[in-house]
Amino acid sequence: MTQLEAARKGVITDRMKEVASKEGVSEEYVRRMVAEGKIVIMGNTLRNPPVLGIGKGLSTKVNASIGTSTDIVDFDMEEEKALVAQREGADTLMELSTGGDLDEIRRRILKAVSLPVGTVPLYQVAAEAIRKYGAIVKAPRELFFEVLEKQVEDGVDFMAVHCGINRFTVERLKRQGYRYGGLVSRGGAFLVAWMEYNGEENPYYEEFDRVVSILKKRDVVLSLGNGMRSGAVHDSNDRAQMQELIINCELADEARNMGVQTMVEGPGHILIDEIEMNVKMAKKLSGEAPYYVLGPVPTDVFPGYDHIAAVAGAALAAQYGADLICYLTPAEHIALPFPEDVRIGVRCAKIAAYMGDMVKLGKKDRDLEMAVARKNLDWAKQLELALYKDVFQEIRNSRPPEAPDTCTMCGSLCALKAVKRIFEGE
Ligand code: SF4
Repeated sequence: MTQLEAARKGVITDRMKEVASKEGVSEEYVRRMVAEGKIVIMGNTLRNPPVLGIGKGLSTKVNASIGTSTDIVDFDMEEEKALVAQREGADTLMELSTGGDLDEIRRRILKAVSLPVGTVPLYQVAAEAIRKYGAIVKAPRELFFEVLEKQVEDGVDFMAVHCGINRFTVERLKRQGYRYGGLVSRGGAFLVAWMEYNGEENPYYEEFDRVVSILKKRDVVLSLGNGMRSGAVHDSNDRAQMQELIINCELADEARNMGVQTMVEGPGHILIDEIEMNVKMAKKLSGEAPYYVLGPVPTDVFPGYDHIAAVAGAALAAQYGADLICYLTPAEHIALPFPEDVRIGVRCAKIAAYMGDMVKLGKKDRDLEMAVARKNLDWAKQLELALYKDVFQEIRNSRPPEAPDTCTMCGSLCALKAVKRIFEGE
């Protein structure tokens, strides 16, 4: 029985209890939200990673993606990246390798981390099709399902499956004309190429029941992939993307009716003033399924700083209801990330999730404590409250002040100290 089926039968599982205790909400609330498809609880039943709930009323979570490319195949580095992501506080990890032995690297990562691990099965379909048949478009239909089965049985906890790209979606894309930024989803691009070459419907759409049945066996969370996401702000919320979103939301209903926990993905690059609309629309159309946002990136012209651009987009998305944020690293749009890029990327995404939750969940107590610690020039307390203590300490220790209760920014002209003296009557 999946968590969703249990919830619908009125059963509060141990996993639901743990989510409730971690998040400070009632057990019945978690059960009801799982039953309604508004919260998912990650965990392939073969692997049972630490309990993680994602969705309405819970804190915003952060995903880090790692994985080889065809140019850089270094399994040790990918394992290091996975461990860095875990150490830095990522809540989920996506293993998105496309280079080397994909079974080996996936199994290695699943063993290395305790985080829930997700995949995009289409990457392995494409890689195996190239290896065995010479081209992605030559992939036999059965391969799409064999890969799903294999990854589910390996213990993958959630999967981004591109089910919402069908003939209608491709037709919308063609009618609106080619996009400014093209198709940037690798999974989306593979599928469109396969469908066009073979003149066939997307196997994951056509046999959606089969996809759902495979995932259901191990209570794997279905994340309905966003293959038409925009890779340029000028393409945001276009007809092709909206078409796929509508189909994904219909499919989310079907999957939930079959007892499978489901999330919906979006939106990629998007102007900052469209984020609220995008999140609210995705939530409304999907019956408030957990919304997994990629980015959102509100500008295209800061390569090297896309992780920072994405903080602005993701903080807004989280504020308006996004539930899981996929990080970006400084290497985004330029190269395969290194471990240091992963470290920075996770930290940035955590800041975005935190700022979003301050509004979405009203979590502001820690900030109030920090304000008071700063006013009191209580440096020990400031360190205790700082979410990334290593940087705080490193910067402060690298330039010690003359008076230990101040800092070298204003030195003897410390404004807080002067006002404190006045208020304390010194
Ligand atoms: S020296 Fe300036 S920056 Fe540093 S604590 Fe005092 S007021 Fe703040």
